Amino acid sequence: MFSVKTRHQNCYVYTKASTSTRSCRTRDIGVQTETSKLCSVGTQLSMRTLQTHHRSVCVQTETTLSSFDVSTKLVSHTAVASSTPLKTSSKRPCLDLEEDEDILQECSSILTSQETDVTFNPAEADTSITEPKDLSAQESSPIQNICKYIVYKTCIMELFDVCPVCHRSCHIRSQRIGTFLRVEQLCHHCQFSRKWNSQPILGSTPAGNLHLSAAVYLSGASFFTIEKIFAAMKLHLFKYDTFRRHARMCIEPAIVYKWRNWQDEMLQLLAQREKVIVGGDMRADSPGHSAKYGSYTMMDLETNTVVDVQLVQSNEVGGSYHMEKEGLKRGLDFLDAHGVTLDCIVTDRHPQIQKFLRERNVNQFYDVWHIEKGISKQLEKVCKLKGCEKIRKWLHSIKNHIYWTDASSSSGPERVAKWMSMLNHMQNKHTHEDSNFPACLHGTRRSRDTKKWLAAGTLPYLKLEKVLSNKRIVKDVAKLSPHYQTSSIEVFHSVILRFTPKNVVFLFLGMLCRLYLAALHYNENAGRPQATTAAGRPVFKVTFPKAKKGEYRVREVKTQATFKYVDDLLDLIFDKVFVDPAPYVDDVLRIPIPPALCAEYDRPEKEEAISSRVSRFNQ
Ligand SMILES: [Zn+2]
Ligand SMILES: [Zn+2]
Repeated sequence: MFSVKTRHQNCYVYTKASTSTRSCRTRDIGVQTETSKLCSVGTQLSMRTLQTHHRSVCVQTETTLSSFDVSTKLVSHTAVASSTPLKTSSKRPCLDLEEDEDILQECSSILTSQETDVTFNPAEADTSITEPKDLSAQESSPIQNICKYIVYKTCIMELFDVCPVCHRSCHIRSQRIGTFLRVEQLCHHCQFSRKWNSQPILGSTPAGNLHLSAAVYLSGASFFTIEKIFAAMKLHLFKYDTFRRHARMCIEPAIVYKWRNWQDEMLQLLAQREKVIVGGDMRADSPGHSAKYGSYTMMDLETNTVVDVQLVQSNEVGGSYHMEKEGLKRGLDFLDAHGVTLDCIVTDRHPQIQKFLRERNVNQFYDVWHIEKGISKQLEKVCKLKGCEKIRKWLHSIKNHIYWTDASSSSGPERVAKWMSMLNHMQNKHTHEDSNFPACLHGTRRSRDTKKWLAAGTLPYLKLEKVLSNKRIVKDVAKLSPHYQTSSIEVFHSVILRFTPKNVVFLFLGMLCRLYLAALHYNENAGRPQATTAAGRPVFKVTFPKAKKGEYRVREVKTQATFKYVDDLLDLIFDKVFVDPAPYVDDVLRIPIPPALCAEYDRPEKEEAISSRVSRFNQ
């Protein structure tokens, strides 16, 4: 992969192509290739090189010309004619390149032009090639915005095959650093020489290597997946260590900076608001008690925005069971410290969390979906008991009833009254003693299925009563969240999944940065409107979720996601962090990082461990 955009430091007179016809271009235009700043040799590819190739390989010449045409300076043939080749400097320029991977290849005129009957189809070509672009505008665009191409080795080497001055074959030397390629061309006949870089070099780092690392990281991909793709493509890539170095020095500091900047602005807005309602929930990186990381999300439910994510490692708090409380505590402390006044917090109903919030005097409401899920799970069990099969007929109604109870009530007692009325209703009794809800609202209607009614005192009724009216459920129903639910946090948790590939074990900082990326993605995209067809109709899709066992759901299709945060981060990485990493890296170094989990265990000497295994095996 390399950038076609070239830079130059020669002082020839440049003229733009005045016409876009093919014959004219191939006759009059030479392509100016770049000279790196470290190279003092004039570099000039003559028009005749191109002409020869144009004749021998139709397809490639056309493509090559087209590609170079849009993004390189064009030079008039008078300038070419008057230029004289410079002598090679005897010393090789010393480039402090970032990598030990330094592959040198020597080859001398390895290519032979072959006739090919593949025809060039102008219709498939990029239409932009016919219009010479404003070259000065191209010249000034930032490195991260220059487009790149995948180029075959045979195609690029063809350009260096023949001496542009004396037209005899040249000695070619190439050097590769990750995705970067440098070609040195030397003509033994006339001493013409030049060096060509496939990518701009920043300090000692090829821009494309850094850009690829950033692109992989910022899109939530795994380096190892990219490595496999590149290997299958026979595309050169750098090593994992290089990726990690880019991450540590530039990418992670940029993510932390960007997230904190965004978060500061958000917190200032929240601090001005009188009452803030947040939703909070923890996501463990694996189910059960084996989780290594827990991330606690605080979401502003009014604007559907992630305002804070706290990452807790299980060994910080003595086991994964305590991660949720710790994450919540840190999140609340953080909001407090920034002057945000909470009206209430909507969460699930972990007893540990209930106790903690009560002691901290934070008004807590429960998410209706979490309660419904808990009740449905218990009822599902009860249905399976002998003699209780009848209950199954009520499952759907009970589920709807809890959502209705929550949505239609304005106070705790009203919620409880409505909830408890369900037990009467199932006995075909539709007036109730509680004055908060004296009668069912469904009117007098006769049900066709008279067998569904339950009689008081029977086993199914007693079992149902036990589940629906147990003390804890009734207490929690009273505190069902009247405002907002936390389903948006579940959605955010599924976004996190996309940024944390499952087959990769992340270090604490890597995990934290990926959470920040997920939050940046969510906040940019959560408010997307529904997509519409060309005719202006809203778009829906029908799905069959596995959990619904054959029932379908109709979902809104949203407009395409955007990735402005990725562009912003690339700008930050190339324009600021790479140029002066110290302040950004220092910020990252101040983040407290807990010791790795495996650090707790005594590591035996490897030799010892092996010998004890061998002796056990032989016993
Ligand atoms: Zn020569
Ligand atoms: Zn009723």
